[in-house]
Amino acid sequence: MAKTDGQRWRVGPGTKVHLDKIDTRSTAGAPGDRAATDEAVAGLLGELQGLQERLYAEGKQSLLVVLQAIDAGGKDGTIKHVFRGLNPASCRVVSFKVPSEEERSHDFLWRVHNKAPAKGDVVVFNRSHYEDVLVVRVHNLVPEDVWRPRYEMLNDFESTLAAAGTRIVKLYLHISKEEQAERFQARIDDPSKNWKFRTADLEDRARWDAYVDAFEEAISRTSTATAPWYVIPADRKWYRNWAVSRILVETLADMDPQYPPAEDLTGVVIT
Ligand code: AMP
Ligand code: MG
Repeated sequence: MAKTDGQRWRVGPGTKVHLDKIDTRSTAGAPGDRAATDEAVAGLLGELQGLQERLYAEGKQSLLVVLQAIDAGGKDGTIKHVFRGLNPASCRVVSFKVPSEEERSHDFLWRVHNKAPAKGDVVVFNRSHYEDVLVVRVHNLVPEDVWRPRYEMLNDFESTLAAAGTRIVKLYLHISKEEQAERFQARIDDPSKNWKFRTADLEDRARWDAYVDAFEEAISRTSTATAPWYVIPADRKWYRNWAVSRILVETLADMDPQYPPAEDLTGVVIT
């Protein structure tokens, strides 16, 4: 397997992304059909576990994974399938909802900063600081002269984290409008999925094009060398799981965490 598979989905700094040119059903580079790819994922999850243990033992760096997508894009499924193998002792998922009154009374990064990973940890943001240039922009929750300067603020914030030893990987799960319709329909038809659907989701669906514009601008303006965005074709969940696992393994391998030097244990015998 190529060491740099992740490049395939990575958005280079300064590149203007056109989401309609990226095929949501792509399976490019996959190790085989669905079954073969699922098997490859199982192997990657094993690698991920070993790398995470080294990251934790080393205690000098951390990994922040930002997950963003349109509704029904697969954020929850990705967390369930890719992060299930990690040791919960040093891995945490943080879900960002509509800000509380207290959160709203601070700057938009206030609630985010103290959820960033401590040294040795992996943290997954299920939605993130990017909502403040996505839903906030699409729904005009604040005027443009307030949200527009945030792209720079997001880059500055992420540089601050990077300077403290945090690697940042930002994943945009890319689905088609047709795929969203199918997933919404499944949430309506299957009683065990009803809880995942709100009629308000249809108001966001009606703003599909505005969301695409907002995602394109956010990704284009904030994909940097230290905190790159990856656009992942996500109509096929098995391909999405493989791509995310690949990117995480590659990133952690590149961080190359090391077990700390042991004490000199020569001659130590337990009696
Ligand atoms: P869910 O992820 O389905 O539980 O929904 C969380 C909701 O919170 C979504 O509709 C988000 O758009 C919304 N949300 C998250 N962050 C913000 C934010 N900063 N401002 C406004 N809405 C937000
Ligand atoms: Mg919504």
